Amino acid sequence: MRNPTSNVVIVGGGFSGTVLAAHLLRRLPALSVALVDNGSAPGRGVAYGAKYRCYLLNVPAGGMSALPDEPDHFLRWVQANYDSSAQTTDFLPRALYGRYVGELLQEAVDRSAGNFRCFRGEATSLVPDRSRFNVHLSDGTALVTETVVLAVGNFPPSNLNVAGLSDRCARYAPYPWSPAALENVPKNGTVLLIGSGLTSVDIALSLKSEGFSGRIHILSRRGLLPQPHQPEKPWPQFWNEQSPRTTRGLLRLVRAQLRAASHAGCDWRPVIDALRPVTQQVWQSLPLDERRRFLRHVRPYWDANRHRMASEVGAAIAGLLHDGQATLHAGRITSYRESSDCAEIAFRDRKTHAERLLRVDRVINCAGPETDYRRMDAPLIKSILAQRLARPDALFLGLDVDAHGALIDSRGNPSPSLFAIGPARKGLLWETTAVPELRVQASQLAALLARHFASHTEDEDQRERQDPEPPEPSVERFESAR
Ligand SMILES: Cc1cc2nc3c(=O)[nH]c(=O)nc-3n(C[C@H](O)[C@H](O)[C@H](O)COP(=O)(O)OP(=O)(O)OC[C@H]3O[C@@H](n4cnc5c(N)ncnc54)[C@H](O)[C@@H]3O)c2cc1C
Repeated sequence: MRNPTSNVVIVGGGFSGTVLAAHLLRRLPALSVALVDNGSAPGRGVAYGAKYRCYLLNVPAGGMSALPDEPDHFLRWVQANYDSSAQTTDFLPRALYGRYVGELLQEAVDRSAGNFRCFRGEATSLVPDRSRFNVHLSDGTALVTETVVLAVGNFPPSNLNVAGLSDRCARYAPYPWSPAALENVPKNGTVLLIGSGLTSVDIALSLKSEGFSGRIHILSRRGLLPQPHQPEKPWPQFWNEQSPRTTRGLLRLVRAQLRAASHAGCDWRPVIDALRPVTQQVWQSLPLDERRRFLRHVRPYWDANRHRMASEVGAAIAGLLHDGQATLHAGRITSYRESSDCAEIAFRDRKTHAERLLRVDRVINCAGPETDYRRMDAPLIKSILAQRLARPDALFLGLDVDAHGALIDSRGNPSPSLFAIGPARKGLLWETTAVPELRVQASQLAALLARHFASHTEDEDQRERQDPEPPEPSVERFESAR
């Protein structure tokens, strides 16, 4: 039996991989594309396979088109398929968004020449074989391809470096999105969420949806919750090429703008939002040491103010805090201990420096994704790094890539046929997690690959005219190769 062969294998069928596949098929309907995902249906990924109705998008509908050239594409789809009265400012359910992205791919597949294949399973290794690659899946399938795109998204949080705490602790859930994280939590029990970002917010709301009436403790170093969105008039763009190239200088610039906004009676949010279209340029204008300084001193404040929650979600969290069902703590965990009836977590309070103790039924790690690829357990990543086909970026925020997303190998050479899209590009771009950035990457990478395969096909056609060869496998032969 022959191994399935494709022009492009995309590993990861979340937003990035699915939209890339759709763009490729729209541009070159005859291209053979394989999409591999170890989780849910295409387009869902971690974010949009959401189980609960309370999980809302954290970007309003007007900002969530999957197509950069058609800004109201999502809104029009929503109006046609879900709610004809939907507005650009609405925060819609995340599961609905997953359906939208899935349908975008389905449409492209329906119009293509039928060479698209979807594989359910984990890609566990990547082995170069002359000018091709074999992508091995956990079920033993090996996909043969000319080009591989890693669209593997965010990884689980890394283990917290706390005495007594490990994956083996029965009351500790290391991965917040695993169904096991909320299983068997007593309805009137006590839960500790470590981290106070959007993941903690999601998990607190999931607990509520499951009918949990007990106490929720949310603990992070600084105790900063994400801010809710609020409709505001835009603030003018204020960063340019002449702006400071130091973290301190940029902070001064932003503070001056915040003061100006306040004097003008404007909210702070549009000031931060004005940076959003240029965040990648701002990041790239900073020397490496300044980027390090930003990560050390400013990152938690940036994250809390930049990554916002829908106002309904903000109101729900404010309600939990107000009613005393949830409590927010700032401090550093010093030890973890489990007994037969609870987990005991000691932490040093950020303000008082006093040691405090929490006794809870479940501890859930919501500390945000691990970005240091050297520390990842995923077999595919280990395989790629072990063969030196890629290397982490200098700040260990992702993989080292060039401007097109080509992986840079251990000797510093960009690959002509291995690419990454999405959060793996964080070292180069910093802002590369949300749809407004990812849709541009998907569209640009598709254009690059389509150009490559189109010229490739022209060359082959020319060669064939001069020296006819047996035809490429037809769709039927491709299918029967499985
Ligand atoms: C809870 C949550 C809510 C969010 N809400 C928003 C929002 O409202 N708006 C917004 O713009 N952004 C939001 N984001 C940001 C989000 O990360 C991006 O919008 C986008 O979903 C990222 O897509 P991705 O395809 O890059 O990654 P992912 O969605 O993580 O998809 C990666 C996929 O690759 C698969 N995979 C990984 N490794 C392998 C392997 N070896 N073999 C096979 N499959 C593999 C994973 O199972 C996963 O399905 C949210 C993120 C989260 C986590």
